[in-house]
Formats: sequence, structure tokens, C-alpha cells
Amino acid sequence: MFDTIAQQVQDQEISLNGLNITVRRLDQIHPHISGNKFYKLKYNFIEAKRQGFQKVMTFGGAYSNHIAATGFAAHQFGFQSIGIIRGEELKNSARNHTLATAERFGMALHFISREAYRHKNDPEFLAHLAQRFPESYLIPEGGTNSLAIQGTQEILKDADQTFDFICCAVGTGGTISGLIERSLSHQRIIGFSALKGNFLNDEVKLLTGKNNWHITDDYCFGGYAKTRPELIQFIEKFEYEYRIPLEQVYTGKMMFGIHDLIQQNYFPKNAKVLVIHSGGLQGRTI
Ligand SMILES: *Cc1c(COP(=O)(O)O)cnc(C)c1O
Repeated sequence: MFDTIAQQVQDQEISLNGLNITVRRLDQIHPHISGNKFYKLKYNFIEAKRQGFQKVMTFGGAYSNHIAATGFAAHQFGFQSIGIIRGEELKNSARNHTLATAERFGMALHFISREAYRHKNDPEFLAHLAQRFPESYLIPEGGTNSLAIQGTQEILKDADQTFDFICCAVGTGGTISGLIERSLSHQRIIGFSALKGNFLNDEVKLLTGKNNWHITDDYCFGGYAKTRPELIQFIEKFEYEYRIPLEQVYTGKMMFGIHDLIQQNYFPKNAKVLVIHSGGLQGRTI
């Protein structure tokens, strides 16, 4: 099902701030089911089909790459889709690119207040939604569940055992959890959080039994989708130099962080570093 639409993913070697690193270009895997979302959705859609569902329902903010990817995947594989979107006030406003894309692929958008959205994982709230939108296969916010982690393990291959460090951007922790699960104990997985705070450490601890990893929020630039001119300048310079597009919510912050860690001599001189480019370019606003 999913694998037949995957495009060739390239590994690109670049010299960043004097260190050779390998960038895994998951942004190239599919124009609409971009980057890590491809891996996170794969087994969820296979499971939805296996269980005979015709509808999928999921959650997200107005700029969620997961919403756009789920809308397209549903369309591609013959499901109806429902997107529960944070922010009631957006209901009647002009659609941004993410929501317009989801709607174009047939996703029915249902806007709820920020207050209600906070209950997105509560059983009563989910029961209410199940009543309102019956017979829908539920994919949680950001798509993170055990099937997603099964999928994100496939980002790594056996030959990747030669890497000492594996770096990725972190939102809900599904991607890093798959990488950790697939890694060997001599490897260190570093997550660059797009969100402020260290609650993601607790979440990821629940998703994996290993401890060869850590998540830093040192490069979150104040929080989710927050930015500073310094970050935008870094992204523009990086894109110009390496011809690798980044965006300002996830991959730009991660790459800024890796660049800074190299500056601080965090990585040993001959370290082999694999960087996961998780895509997300549909939400690019710079
Ligand atoms: C969604 C997303 C992430 C976050 O992935 P999680 O599995 O939620 O941690 C990282 N990078 C990009 C580009 C994304 O779209």
C-alpha cells in the first residue's frame, strides 16, 4: 500500500561547520506525505484497512504537517477523512496552505476551541467524537502511537550501525522513539525539540525502554513555531550553500542546533553523524 508510492530517498553528505555529516533526505519521499509522516502513517493506514474502516479521524493545529499528510493519504488510499482542528475562530477564516491542502483532498475539517482541544486524549472527549463521527479509525495528534513507532523504525537501515550519532527534530516524540528502538547501544540519538520544556523526555521514556538518547530544547527559539531573525538567516544561508530546503518549525531549528553543537566541539573529530531531514516543507512560510 504505502511503499508503492515512496520515492527514492537520498543520503547527502555535507560538510557543516567543518564536520562531515550525512543528511537523510526524507523530505524527498513523497510530495504530500512528507518526511517522517510517511513512516508514521504507513502502519496506521494498513491497520485501518485491515479492520475495515472507511474513515480516519485525527487532530492537529492549523499548520500541522500531519493534518496535510493524513488528508492526502486518506484520499490516496480511498478513505474519508476528518480533521479536528485547534482553534474555533479559524472556522470561517480563509484557509492557510495546510488546511487548504487537506480540504482539497477531501478532509472534512471540524474546528474546536483551544480549551476543548486540550482534552484530545481524554476518554470522554473521544467518546463524544466517536458518537459524532462514527466508525472512524482514530489517529492521535501528530500521529504518534505504537504503529507509528513501528513505521519510524524503518527510517534506519542495517547499514546505519556505523553511525555514532543520529539527530532528528522532535514534536510529539514518535519519530525519535522509532529511531531509538532501532538503534544499537553504542549509538547516541539526539532529539532537537521544537517545543519548550522537558516534558517530551517523559513522553519518550514511555515509548521506549532504552536510554542511549536525549532531547534538548536549547534550540526551540522560545517554543513551537516561534522564530527569530537569526534562525531565518541561518536557514537561508544553509539552503543557499547546500541546496537542501529547511523550514522554521522543525528541521531549521534542528540544523541550527547541530551547527552550534559542532561549534562547541560536542562531536568527536571523526564522529559519524546521521541527520534525519524529516520533511515538513508544505508548511514552509519563508
Ligand atoms: C511532525 C514533524 C516532526 C515531529 O515528529 P514527531 O514524531 O511528532 O516527534 C518533525 N519534523 C517535521 C518536519 C515534522 O513535520
